[in-house]
Amino acid sequence: MSSPLDSLLKLPGVTVEAHSQVEGYICVHLKILATEITCPHCRNLVQELHQVRPILVRDLPTFGQPVYLRVPRQQFYCRQCQKYVTQQLDFLSWRRRYTQRYESYIYQRVLMSNMTQVSREENLTYEEVLGIFNFVSNQKKKTGVKSSV
Ligand SMILES: [Zn+2]
Repeated sequence: MSSPLDSLLKLPGVTVEAHSQVEGYICVHLKILATEITCPHCRNLVQELHQVRPILVRDLPTFGQPVYLRVPRQQFYCRQCQKYVTQQLDFLSWRRRYTQRYESYIYQRVLMSNMTQVSREENLTYEEVLGIFNFVSNQKKKTGVKSSV
């Protein structure tokens, strides 16, 4: 069930199913290991999978190339609450399209240079870099000085 690439990927709760090289970047297909989640409303274990929607998430570059993760987001159905519940992943903030470690990386790089340079080097728009920077600094304000990245 595990892949030798998992130890390189270092992300919890997932395994590498496949990887491919697409025009200028590496695409890593992930498989989620969990087959059940705790419903945030009633705290029961929910196993009824409603649907899986894969999303592409930017991750840290590897071997000098940009990396995108193909993450199958799992949505479960809680019969007790009659609600759909989307699985939260530890390495991905809610509704974000970048891994947390990629966002920290961009944040640090902006601190060391500037937004224009980072956007050029990472092939992101200025607005994307600004969005990541603001998101991470807001999180740091919320959680205090927790991380030492
Ligand atoms: Zn529930």
